[in-house]
Amino acid sequence: MNRNQADTSTGNILVVDDTPENLRLLSTMLTEHGYKVRKVISGKLALDAAQVNPPDLILLDIMMPQINGYEVCKQLKASEQTAKIPVIFLSALNEAIDKVKAFNVGGADYITKPFQIEEVVARVENQLLIRRLQKQQQEHNIKLQQEISDRQQAQVALQTLNQELEIRVQARTAQLTQANQQLLRLENQLRQALVQEQELNEFKSRIITTISHEYRTPLTTINSSAELLELYRHKWPQEKQLNHLQRIQRKVKHLTSLVNDVLFLDKFEYEKIQLNLAPLDLIKFSEELVEELKMTTAKGQIIEFSYQGDCFQGAWDEKILRQILSNLLSNAIKYSPEVSVIKFQISGQDGKVVWQIKDQGIGIPPEDQLRVFESFHRANNVGNIPGIGLGLSITKKCVDLYNGQITCESEVGVGTIFTVTIPAEQSKLNTEDEPKSKQGFQLDPNKSCQDASKDTSVMNLAVF
Ligand code: ATP
Ligand code: MG
Repeated sequence: MNRNQADTSTGNILVVDDTPENLRLLSTMLTEHGYKVRKVISGKLALDAAQVNPPDLILLDIMMPQINGYEVCKQLKASEQTAKIPVIFLSALNEAIDKVKAFNVGGADYITKPFQIEEVVARVENQLLIRRLQKQQQEHNIKLQQEISDRQQAQVALQTLNQELEIRVQARTAQLTQANQQLLRLENQLRQALVQEQELNEFKSRIITTISHEYRTPLTTINSSAELLELYRHKWPQEKQLNHLQRIQRKVKHLTSLVNDVLFLDKFEYEKIQLNLAPLDLIKFSEELVEELKMTTAKGQIIEFSYQGDCFQGAWDEKILRQILSNLLSNAIKYSPEVSVIKFQISGQDGKVVWQIKDQGIGIPPEDQLRVFESFHRANNVGNIPGIGLGLSITKKCVDLYNGQITCESEVGVGTIFTVTIPAEQSKLNTEDEPKSKQGFQLDPNKSCQDASKDTSVMNLAVF
């Protein structure tokens, strides 16, 4: 390839002249100086030769037939392939050379005939050197361009890598933050579980202490009554024997209810207690409850039962309702003087059933009024009145089961009012949730909130 030849120091020269002697002369001269020379005798041939195999330099005669040197040069400069090839014009001394035109059409130099060998070589060498330097510069530029584009590419790649890295770092940070939050949540749950466990342990040890303490006295009473009966039953009149037997029975009942309370609370802690609803006439149920509690009242204590409004026919969990009301009523009895009135009212209105138990007892000090619902909490004014402080905490849990509310108003030495409010709708809804077969009945929405007895009625139960 000519490019390789052009890269040699000697150079590849195209000589163009329509005079064969000139052509020969120049060719010989240049060949002797180590240049590779090609000769053509017309402008047309010169253009073809330059296109096919571009030389390093063209020596171009000006005066030629058909296409003269200026025109050839113009066409060479117009083609991208040959534009950079330096052209030295040749002219005879007698020929007038238009130097300005020669440079305007792109000529690099000119030599006048007859040729001085040193001058020709010097001018040729000069142009070849310029050409070589130009080529080197070009290559250098190309290299530089390549380097710049390589660096730009590297920079883009680096930027992309940086962005990817940043995205990965962000994603990882988000993952870590999430994991951290989860860890914190788990830690909190663990802490809560530990607190619960601790509370449960405390609660259990409290139960054990209280129960063992509360068991001792009644057991001693039972034991002593049993021993006395064993020893003296033949000597004692029947009435005295019965007295001791009833004492034993009362204490056994007390111990049983104690165990029942603890078991009930335990069930609340470990099992999800659900309301077991069945149709219940609230008035009948309340009257029966009052009848039962009459057995425990002191002589001179009166329970006044009254009701007003409607909503007394519905579906209720009798056991749970009994827990609520019997705890409140037995407290009212227990903490009231021997001669006093306990008012027990039910009112049904606006889709709610409200129970109110009002006594004239010892009252609850303000600082204890909220805490009485905590297990084992007893107010400081209870004195010798027996109890372990579980009744109201069971009551509260039962009211919660019904999504109800329990409140307490009290004044020491005046009395206490406990109010329980339960949405009547609650019992209706729960009934609908349960399968009918289990419920064994279907609520009539027209009847559920409308009790036949809308009139206020009061029942006085005096116990003597
Ligand atoms: P028990 O577990 O046997 O019912 P208790 O009656 O002491 O024992 P709660 O029924 O839970 O326990 O009541 C907690 C405390 O609230 C009582 O100890 C008492 O101080 C106070 N209390 C409850 N009801 C009344 C009331 N009607 N009048 C005065 N104090 C009351
Ligand atoms: Mg009680």
